[in-house]
Amino acid sequence: MWAPYNGVMSNPHPLNADLHCHSTVSDGTLAPAKLAERAHAHGVDLWALTDHDATSGLAEAQQAADALGLRFVAGVEISVSFAAQTVHIVALGVQPQNAALLQGLQQIRAGRDQRAKDMAQDLERHLGLPNVYAGALRYASNPALLSRTHFARFLVEQGVCRQTHEVFSRFLTPGKPGYVDHAWARLEDALSWVTAANGIAVIAHPGRYRFSATEEWALLEQFKALGGQAIEVVTGSHTASQYRKYAQLALEFGFYASRGSDFHSPGESICDLGRLPPLPADLAPVWDLLH
Ligand code: AMP
Ligand code: MN
Ligand code: MN
Ligand code: MN
Repeated sequence: MWAPYNGVMSNPHPLNADLHCHSTVSDGTLAPAKLAERAHAHGVDLWALTDHDATSGLAEAQQAADALGLRFVAGVEISVSFAAQTVHIVALGVQPQNAALLQGLQQIRAGRDQRAKDMAQDLERHLGLPNVYAGALRYASNPALLSRTHFARFLVEQGVCRQTHEVFSRFLTPGKPGYVDHAWARLEDALSWVTAANGIAVIAHPGRYRFSATEEWALLEQFKALGGQAIEVVTGSHTASQYRKYAQLALEFGFYASRGSDFHSPGESICDLGRLPPLPADLAPVWDLLH
């Protein structure tokens, strides 16, 4: 059912749900238990840990959340390739031990090390800086999950840039030094793992991709046809006008709406845990699907 987005951003008793963040298991700097404490301290009512391509922080997160009386949702953010770009699919409410999911994530992680070596070589050539791979690896608590964020932190340490955000505007993105094309999971495979693990698939930060309108439409349609049920509307990566755009698209496509900070690190992430505007009141929140 289509209804125009009316711009109402308030809701008398909004749930402070934060369904997207990262721990030391991927490219966050806080351990899962520390994130649980921070979410609780910030008044989060429903919290998901969604590390990149890994579920190994979920048991600690669940335990810490239980001890605090914080409702916890087991999640993961899956790296996917679609129309020659990287798309992130957040899976919520997954069974962390599901074999299909674990095997799929393992496959994705397996490609990261060679990619990181290629990125390091390219950065070394452009910057005349030695030992970039080893430098980035020092920032990765989980060596199986070496990501661009770890390279960004190393380049800040080396004085190449002042902030990680600056690194991503000058390096590590398509067309810039240190960017290496990579084949992540196919959308249909990622959705099949999420479904096998009884999870809800959510398109993460849809406003971040550089798709044409046609490509974006194709992503939303294919995602829906494959069983995808939700998109992030309120995320740390969106501007206020993107909240409105994706609220409208959620209504048009019949998607549930998600809300998540995508918090990675104090002092680095612009948006902290639980510190987001509420979902527009006319949307169906994804937590209606999470029991
Ligand atoms: P990777 O999975 O190795 O491609 O790394 C992706 C991660 O890099 C994202 O999850 C973000 O944490 C970070 N990232 C990507 N683009 C940006 C950006 N423009 N500013 C800050 N962080 C970014
Ligand atoms: Mn990240
Ligand atoms: Mn992401
Ligand atoms: Mn994320």
